[in-house]
Order: sequence, then structure tokens, then C-alpha cells
Amino acid sequence: MSRPPVPHEAMRPLWRCRNCGAPWPCQPARLALLIEYRHDRTALLVYLGTLLVEARDQLGQLHSPPPDLTERFLGWARARG
Ligand SMILES: [Zn+2]
Repeated sequence: MSRPPVPHEAMRPLWRCRNCGAPWPCQPARLALLIEYRHDRTALLVYLGTLLVEARDQLGQLHSPPPDLTERFLGWARARG
């Protein structure tokens, strides 16, 4: 029996990827979100905005939140062109 793959999800309160350890959302997580929300970019941005608030709050209790947090959560998801 093989173990199920570890999803690219955020580990709270560190907001690192459960699978690859990268700051979340990592590249695979971004790709999965883009596919999941491909028909509704606005909903994706709303969702990420909610997570951003949560991450800033939780990271702020550990240390000061990274200054590029908004870009990390939202920058890549904004519609291009
Ligand atoms: Zn990952």
C-alpha cells in the first residue's frame, strides 16, 4: 500500500507548504488554484485575500509578517494583460 500524496497545502501558523516546505502558496499550489478557479478569477482573489488576512495575523504573532506577503498571496493571481 502506498501512502496518498501529501497535498500542497499551507501548514498553519507557519504558512509553509505541507508537501514541499516552500512559503505557501508554492508553485504547485498556485497552479492548482489557477486550474480550480480558472472560470472565476475574482473568486480566487477573494479567497486568497481571506487567506492573506489569516496568514498576516498568524505570522504576526510569531514574528513580524514578511513585507512581501501581499505580493506573495495576490501578485501572481492578478489577471494579466
Ligand atoms: Zn508545495
